[in-house]
Amino acid sequence: MESSKIISDDLSYQNWQQKQLDAWENKCTRCGACCGVAEGDPCEHLVEASKGKYICSIYENRFGFHKTVSGKVFECVSIRQILHKWWPGDQCCGYKRH
Ligand code: SF4
Ligand code: SF4
Repeated sequence: MESSKIISDDLSYQNWQQKQLDAWENKCTRCGACCGVAEGDPCEHLVEASKGKYICSIYENRFGFHKTVSGKVFECVSIRQILHKWWPGDQCCGYKRH
């Protein structure tokens, strides 16, 4: 196969992967429920970006053990790992709705 064709296929695949990733990330409504907002003791890394919309201040390095604002230790895991479970406020979760 021609090298320019291989590069073109690689780029197409990377673009497709990025679109899939963006589509997945965009399902999140930023409600903060999976980070403990509805329980009143959220993760210490959760930041309110605008009224009712939250972001993680360490998003790229979020997985692993962290503390809530009151000091309780918990493990932050991928949303895929907890989608089958229930957590307070999960009715607003964009992933559960899809
Ligand atoms: S570390 Fe995890 S639980 Fe804490 S704010 Fe970030 S995503 Fe939410
Ligand atoms: S509960 Fe779902 S929609 Fe809300 S912040 Fe967590 S992943 Fe995003």
